[in-house]
Amino acid sequence: MSNSESPSSRPSLIPLKPVPDPDRYDFFKVIQGYLDQAAKVADVPDHVLDILSEAKNEIIVHFPVLMDSGEHRLLKGYRIQHNNLLGPFKGGIRYHESVGLDDLKALASMMTWKCSLLGIPFGGAKGGIKVNPRNLSENELRRMTRRFTHALGSNIGPQYDIPAPDVGTNGQTMVWLMDTYMNTVGHHSKNAQRRVVTGKTVASGGSLGREKATSQGVVHCIVEWAKENRFDLEGKTAIVQGFGNVGSHASLLLAKLGVATVAVGDHSGYLCNPEGFSPHKLVEHVRTHGSIEGYPHGTTCSREQFFGIKADIFVPAALENQVGEAEAQALDVKLVAEGANGPVNPDGERILLERGISVIPDVIANSGGVTVSYYEWVQNGRSERWDLAKVDEKLEKDMVHAYRRVMFYSREKNVNPRVAAYALALDNLAQVYKERGIFP
Ligand code: NAD
Repeated sequence: MSNSESPSSRPSLIPLKPVPDPDRYDFFKVIQGYLDQAAKVADVPDHVLDILSEAKNEIIVHFPVLMDSGEHRLLKGYRIQHNNLLGPFKGGIRYHESVGLDDLKALASMMTWKCSLLGIPFGGAKGGIKVNPRNLSENELRRMTRRFTHALGSNIGPQYDIPAPDVGTNGQTMVWLMDTYMNTVGHHSKNAQRRVVTGKTVASGGSLGREKATSQGVVHCIVEWAKENRFDLEGKTAIVQGFGNVGSHASLLLAKLGVATVAVGDHSGYLCNPEGFSPHKLVEHVRTHGSIEGYPHGTTCSREQFFGIKADIFVPAALENQVGEAEAQALDVKLVAEGANGPVNPDGERILLERGISVIPDVIANSGGVTVSYYEWVQNGRSERWDLAKVDEKLEKDMVHAYRRVMFYSREKNVNPRVAAYALALDNLAQVYKERGIFP
């Protein structure tokens, strides 16, 4: 018997714990940390906290997609359904190379908090495909979306789980998803299935005002913050990270209030212009070139320089975990309004607050998106088409009300606005669990 076969050299039967990657940002753990902090303020029984600490369903699908080259590529897609106590699961679909289970669990749970906080009768979900959509042609994107929808099958539905756009997806993606779903259900109920997704293009049943809704909500929060702080927004400046749906509309809407965007960044790099960009021209450039790169009316700067640019407002509108200790120390602004989900990490937030920089947390700041998604779902269900003024008016009322509740609670309980927002969301969920009890 050789040494290698001797019992003492046999591999252990106890599975080794995976070695944690010290550089990996554990977004889900961060969200659970906020939940724990909020539970100390809200009245939440332990069993409810246990339920909300995990996602109800974690769906992973593998599906083949025909590429333009004629080859087939096997892709991995996810749909994480965190909670549906208050209504159907609801949340975005993300196409990005970093998509993974834990991040989606974090993002799905945030949808539960947002809907609960805003009083929207939806639960929380998030999904996506681990892929870089910039590397795919339009035909590949369409085939991928249709195959993903088919793979999800009855795990989505207009009364069960309702996707929407997120990073790397848009109104067109939602229309492909809707059309695929509609064509897989019964002939007679086909048109009733339109509201299986929100964030559709207006022509295909989307709501007026949905495309700008997330940013509109961010801007309503900024206006409320300015009123609270007797801060005149006219003539002030902003820096914006991410110039996709949320970032570009934030820049456009801020310009209407007299706030100039003096620096922007996206996946291609960073640009500054002390005179202020024309958001319309920049949007047009991004539409034709795919990024801010090459835009002639600005100077390129590094990521480090971007975070040090003096301005009044910072709107992060890209990805999570963008503001850590270094960025929080560097930021020379008065307010951070979180358009993105989770852009400021806990160390970053601690430093910002210590430095007297206000933070309007994601759960309230970017909830305008799901609020108008809800309006879209209602319109589709009633075969109605609301005009833009009605959508805008309702959104402003809902956002201002939610913002003021969060800030009042924050002052009353002496907790930061993020913990206040989570606690209010938890209070509502706990009340419903208490009334309904746990089946059986
Ligand atoms: P999008 O795909 O339209 O835009 C994302 C932007 O981020 C792009 O400009 C991209 O270039 C940029 N970006 C990507 N990686 C980057 C990096 N490493 N550094 C700097 N910039 C980078 O996505 P979106 O819909 O605007 O979403 C942006 C954020 O807002 C996400 O956190 C999303 O979850 C959140 N959000 C979106 C909505 C919505 O309605 N679309 C609603 C609520 C929250």
